Amino acid sequence: MSTVVDVQNVTFAYGETPAVEDVSLSISDGEFVGLIGPNGSGKTTLLHLMIGLYEPDSGSIELFGEPATEFDEGERLGYVGQRSTDRSGTMPVTVREAILMGRFARAGRSRLTDEDRRIVADAMETVDIRELANRRVDELSGGQRQRAFIARALASEADILALDEPTVGVDADSRDRFYDLLDELNRNGMTIILIEHDIDILTKHVDTVACINRELYHHGDTVSFLESDALSEAYGRTSGIIQHNHA
Ligand code: ADP
Ligand code: MG
Repeated sequence: MSTVVDVQNVTFAYGETPAVEDVSLSISDGEFVGLIGPNGSGKTTLLHLMIGLYEPDSGSIELFGEPATEFDEGERLGYVGQRSTDRSGTMPVTVREAILMGRFARAGRSRLTDEDRRIVADAMETVDIRELANRRVDELSGGQRQRAFIARALASEADILALDEPTVGVDADSRDRFYDLLDELNRNGMTIILIEHDIDILTKHVDTVACINRELYHHGDTVSFLESDALSEAYGRTSGIIQHNHA
């Protein structure tokens, strides 16, 4: 299986604040990987490094074989950031428009064909938001908005979906449906990188777990992760007691 994200000995600090220390981790095409670790352990930072938002202080990161910061086929990457359930940001476009933008990015032309429109309609159908097509994105509930972001990634035919705590603030039913959808996308070949602090949910859905607290404690299949001491070691590093991350 080919490697789509290759992190080699990456270290990154925000000024004096170290966030990621000597992490090496590669993600294969089609892998569903979960990132777990305590609050402030560098999960979001590592994800941002992987998608090329920051340059590592040392080490290297490749995305589809290119340095992540130089990667410019953004449509191959669907990203749902932390707190996108927060309604304070304004996005004065409708759901259909937001998804069409994803399609424009992929198609690379300013006029969409019937095929493009079918792909957009299918994406809305897949995530079950057709009835929301004409609603403004910033007026949706958290769960609806997450699904709209996923539909945009689908319409752009993204190869990787990167999700940072996507169901914070989403009710339990919608959350379960959301994770079923991720499973289905992954079965159809999408590589998924998921930050989720609920370990039961995480291990139920992902193939592999990367457990971090600044450093990488474990990256391996779910069973090997659960059998290891990685979680207690990673959580123990912060405070000596197990913390529950409700951030
Ligand atoms: P997580 O997502 O696991 O909660 P983060 O990657 O957000 O962790 O944060 C890792 C560390 O980097 C923390 O100590 C956090 O306070 C710090 N940090 C995160 N973002 C910034 C930033 N923009 N500027 C300065 N420090 C930051
Ligand atoms: Mg985070």
